[in-house]
Amino acid sequence: MSAKLILIVEDEPAIRQMIAFALRRAGFDVLEAVDCEQARAALADRRADLVLVDWMLPDASGLELTRSLKRDRHTRELPIIMLTARAEEGDKVSGLDSGADDYVTKPFSPRELIARIHAVLRRSGTIGLDHIVEFDALKLDQQGQRISIGEQTVPLGPTEYRMLEFFMTHPDRVFSRDQLLDRLWGGNVYVEERTIDVHVRRLRKALEKFGVDGLVQTVRGSGYRFSAKAD
Ligand code: CA
Repeated sequence: MSAKLILIVEDEPAIRQMIAFALRRAGFDVLEAVDCEQARAALADRRADLVLVDWMLPDASGLELTRSLKRDRHTRELPIIMLTARAEEGDKVSGLDSGADDYVTKPFSPRELIARIHAVLRRSGTIGLDHIVEFDALKLDQQGQRISIGEQTVPLGPTEYRMLEFFMTHPDRVFSRDQLLDRLWGGNVYVEERTIDVHVRRLRKALEKFGVDGLVQTVRGSGYRFSAKAD
C-alpha cells in the first residue's frame, strides 16, 4: 500500500513545519499550502487522501475552503480535518456544518493529530465487505460504498455514508447519541454529542430529495432510530 498523501493548509510556518515533520515521521506523504489558493492548486495537481485545514488563513477562512471542497464533486469525498485555536471552539458546530469530518483544537500534540488522521482515514476507507443490504427503497452496496434509490446514488459525505450504513444494518433500534458516537467515531476521538445531530441533519437533507428522510427518526429523550414504521 502506498503512503497516504496529506495536504496541510496552514499559514503559520512553525505549525505547518511541525505538522509536516510529524506526518512524514508517521509515514505519510505531505503537501503544504499557505493559503486557500495554494491549496486549490495543490489539489488540482495531486490526489490527496486527506486535508488539514487551518481555520484562519490569509486569503479566505478555512471554513470557506472546506465548504467549497465539499461542494465540488471532485473533492466532495475528500476527508477534511479542521485545525482551530481554542478561542474559536464555539465555532465547532459551524465547522462541522461546513462539511469537515473532524476537528482538532490547538495546541495539539502530533500524536493526537495523527490518531485523528488515522481514525478519519479508517472511517472513510474501504471496509472490504461484499454485501448488499436493502431497506425500504434504499439499497446499500458495502463493497461499492454506495447507497442508492432506484438508479440514483444518494449523495453522501463519508460520515453520512457510515451513519446510514450503520442505520441500515441496525434498523428498528433506538441508539443514544453516546452509542452512535462509539459506533461511528470509535470512541477514541473528542467528538461532542451535538456532532451527531449535525450529521443526522445532513443525512436527512440528503434523504429528503428522495422523500425518505422520515426513516431517520428522533426518539425524544433517547436518541435516534432508523425505521420505516411511524410511532
Ligand atoms: Ca492560521
